[in-house]
Amino acid sequence: MEASPGSSERVDVLIGGAGFAGLALAIALRQGLGPSFSVVVADPALERASGDPRASAIVAAARRLFETIGVWDRIAAQPILDMVITDSRLSDAVRPTFLSFEGEVEPDEPFAHMIENGPLLAALVAKARDEGVHLRPIAVTDFEAAPNGADVRFSDGATLTARLLVAADGAHSVIRERAGIASHGWTYDQSAIVTTVLHERDHHGRAEEHFLPGGPFAILPLTTDAALGHRSSIVWTEHAGEAERILALPDDEFHAELERRFGLKLGEIKAVGSRRAHRLGLSVARAFVAERVALVGDAAHVIHPIAGQGLNMGLKDVAALAEVIVDAARLGLDPGSLAVLERYQRWRRFDTVAMGIATDGLNRLFSNQSAVLRLVRDVGLGMVERLPALKHFFIREAAGLVGEVPKLLRGETL
Ligand SMILES: Cc1cc2nc3c(=O)[nH]c(=O)nc-3n(C[C@H](O)[C@H](O)[C@H](O)COP(=O)(O)OP(=O)(O)OC[C@H]3O[C@@H](n4cnc5c(N)ncnc54)[C@H](O)[C@@H]3O)c2cc1C
Repeated sequence: MEASPGSSERVDVLIGGAGFAGLALAIALRQGLGPSFSVVVADPALERASGDPRASAIVAAARRLFETIGVWDRIAAQPILDMVITDSRLSDAVRPTFLSFEGEVEPDEPFAHMIENGPLLAALVAKARDEGVHLRPIAVTDFEAAPNGADVRFSDGATLTARLLVAADGAHSVIRERAGIASHGWTYDQSAIVTTVLHERDHHGRAEEHFLPGGPFAILPLTTDAALGHRSSIVWTEHAGEAERILALPDDEFHAELERRFGLKLGEIKAVGSRRAHRLGLSVARAFVAERVALVGDAAHVIHPIAGQGLNMGLKDVAALAEVIVDAARLGLDPGSLAVLERYQRWRRFDTVAMGIATDGLNRLFSNQSAVLRLVRDVGLGMVERLPALKHFFIREAAGLVGEVPKLLRGETL
């Protein structure tokens, strides 16, 4: 791209991508630095309503962030009150519980909640608007880093210079690619089928994860819908070819496959809404920063949803980057300078690689029919089940409350 010295518009931060990560960051920056700090979020998807049928497990630390930035009370959230984990074959009539968690990290603070992606995104867009974030329904197509800022070009031909360009543009990030940052990882021979199930009986806030040979089958409790009744979200992992076959089945056959895995403990079930398959992979960017650029969320890392941590990790990036930028700007430093950005990278990259390795290991250990591996994992789960201190540590770790936790994830304002 040709540099755009003629670009008259200058802003402090331009965020490419109005997903959860991009919008949460924009809100946090405006709240931390006030109206004189200009924040633009560009994403062509801002023109459309979200059609994402997924729901996400939001851990306690991420919930604290949403509460602190004033978004949590705008969405309906179902607390996860307990969780059971089983390890069985599809044909097993009974699935014994190997591990159970009762879900509080602090008194009256569940370790996670389930929220629906569509309403969360809508709440973030509305809050960003209230905070004076400039939302533009266009794509970032290119940029060039210069000493004083990134000269950015958009899909409508417009240009702009930002002191910092944030890549929040998802797994196939154009900004990451244009910054010349490689991403390492692989695609699994697995896809996750996502759908919503209505059931006769209340789930009482219980989440279940059944480790079946094709991969984990998760039943995640949703809020009860006044018109539809009791509901759960399903994340159903299968080998990629099998997922494609199942997805293409007529409704009655799809229902039969679903029922074999879901069981009848919550009464009659019915799949509602769309069903989709997501191909799963693992990738971590080689660097989280470059000259005038920082990566957050899926643009920086994509992990297996086995532990429901992808978005939660992205929100940890957001909290760390927001804190680094706010601290620097208050000291009069340039928030886009490499010295400032490197503090963010040191904070987040090691943690991300560790989580990527952990989820990859879990997936390999559990999506496997080997009798030896099955014994190893069942003994491991049994040990955790019997050691309350270890269990408590795992709950706090899963809730995002272990290690150097950024302020927003501790529920503190910037
Ligand atoms: C089946 C499944 C279940 C999951 N469950 C969980 C869970 O329970 N808990 C959890 O924590 N995580 C979960 N995840 C992971 C989670 O969904 C992702 O980590 C999260 O959506 C990433 O958010 P993001 O804002 O980084 O990126 P995205 O949500 O991908 O948003 C990126 C945005 O960038 C925009 N964009 C793309 N290109 C451009 C461009 N050139 N210019 C401008 N904008 C652009 C896109 O339109 C999009 O709006 C799950 C993932 C899968 C696949």
